[in-house]
Amino acid sequence: MFWEETFETLPRDQLRSLQSERLKDTLARAAAAPYYRRMYQESGVALDRINGLSDLNRLPFTTKQDLRAGYPFEFLAVDREAVVRLHSSSGTTGQATVVCHNAHDLASWANLMARCMFMTGARPADVFQNMTGYGMFTGGLGFHYGAERLGMLTVPAGAGNSRRQIKFMQDFGATIVHVIPSYALHLLSVFEEAGVDPRRDLRLRIAYLGAEPYSEQTRRRVEEGLGAKVFNSYGLSEMSGPGVAFECPEQNGMHIWEDAFVVEVLNPTTLEPVPEGEEGELVLTSLDREAMPLIRYRTRDLTAILPGPCPCGRTHRRIARIKGRSDDMFIVKGVNVFPLQVETLLMSVPEVGRNYQIILDNEGSLDSMTVQVEVQREFFHGDVKSLKALQQRITTALKGELLFTPKVALVEPDAIPKSDGKAVRVIDRRRKE
Ligand code: AMP
Ligand code: ZN
Repeated sequence: MFWEETFETLPRDQLRSLQSERLKDTLARAAAAPYYRRMYQESGVALDRINGLSDLNRLPFTTKQDLRAGYPFEFLAVDREAVVRLHSSSGTTGQATVVCHNAHDLASWANLMARCMFMTGARPADVFQNMTGYGMFTGGLGFHYGAERLGMLTVPAGAGNSRRQIKFMQDFGATIVHVIPSYALHLLSVFEEAGVDPRRDLRLRIAYLGAEPYSEQTRRRVEEGLGAKVFNSYGLSEMSGPGVAFECPEQNGMHIWEDAFVVEVLNPTTLEPVPEGEEGELVLTSLDREAMPLIRYRTRDLTAILPGPCPCGRTHRRIARIKGRSDDMFIVKGVNVFPLQVETLLMSVPEVGRNYQIILDNEGSLDSMTVQVEVQREFFHGDVKSLKALQQRITTALKGELLFTPKVALVEPDAIPKSDGKAVRVIDRRRKE
C-alpha cells in the first residue's frame, strides 16, 4: 500500500513538527548561499530568530527573477565540488535558471518519485516506458531514477519517434508509461494509423501525465484511448522536478509531500494566505534539499488546497488540478483567458480531434483571437454543412465561456505543428506597444 508508511501517514501535528525542524535546518543551509546571505542581510531578517513554521511568513519570497539574477551558482549552499548534477530551464523569455543537486538531493528526489508511483500501484514487476525528453527537462531523469529506485524494468525511450515508441511498448510489454498530455493525445492518432489497438495489443494499465496543464476531458480521452488509468503528476524544476504532488488512487486532487515541502497558497496580489478551497498562487519551500534549498519560492502556479482528509490514509494535503501559471493567462478584449478554459471546452466536443492552438493578432485597433481546432478525420472530410454547424457550435460554446466571440478555424488532423516537449498553446502576434 505505502512506500514509506510512517512518513506518508504521519499524524498532522507530527508532520508539522517535522516541517518545523527541517525548516530550521534548511534555513541554516540556505544562509551559506551567497544570494540568501545577501538577501537576508539586506532585508534585515535575523535567521536565528526564525523559530520554525509559524515564523515562515517573516521571510522574503524567492522569485524566478531572483534565480535569474543568481545565475548560475549564487544559490549554491554547498561547495561546487559536492554538486553532482544540474538542470537548467530557459523558459520562453530571458536568462536561464539553474538548479543544482548533490548526491543526497538526487537520492531523496528518486525516493519521492518512487513513493508517487508506488502509491498509484506501480510495482517492481512493472515495465515502465518513459516517453518524455531526457536532458535538461526534469521529467525525463526524474521519473527515470524514481522508476529504477522502485525496481521497475525502466525503458528510457525519450521523447518523439512515435512508431518506435509503439514498437517498444509491444516488444517489451510496457505496463506503465509517462507522457506529456499533449503528446499522449497525439500518440492516440499514431496508434490508429499504425493499426494498433492499445486495449487489444498492449498491456498498459497506468499512464502518468503531467508537466503542462490539461483538463479532465483530456484525461478521459487518454484513458479511453490507451485503456489505462491516468494519474496527474505535478512538479517544477525549481523543486527538483516531478514528485512534488501526485494523485493517489482516490484521484481527488494531488497529495503534495509536506515532509519535503512547506506549502502555502497565497493571493497573488496581496500575498496573504487564501482560505482552504480557494484558488491562489502556490508558494513552496524545500525541506530536504542540501545543494540549493529554496525558501518561499513563488511558483506562479494557480491551485487550491482541497479541504478534508483523503480516504487513502495519507495525511499530506491535496491540491487541485493546476489551472496554469499566472503568466499563461492572456487578455483579449479586456477578458482574462487561460488556455485550459479553451481546452476543457474543446475536449468535451466528440468531433474535436487531438490538438488545438490559440492565435492572438491585431484587427485594426482591436485584438482578435483565433482558435485553430483539429477535428476527427472522417468528420473533416464529411459534408460541409455539418462542418459549418460544428464550427458554429464551438464558437457559441466559447462565447459562453469567454464572453466575447473568438474566430474558430477547423483544420484537419496533424495540421497544427506538434512539439516533442510541452505544447505551445498560444501564439501571440499582437503588436507590442
Ligand atoms: P518545468 O520546471 O520547466 O518543467 O515546468 C514546471 C511547470 O510545469 C510548473 O510550474 C507548472 O506550471 C507546469 N506543470 C507541471 N506539472 C503540471 C501539471 N500536472 N498540471 C499543470 N501544470 C503542470
Ligand atoms: Zn489519497
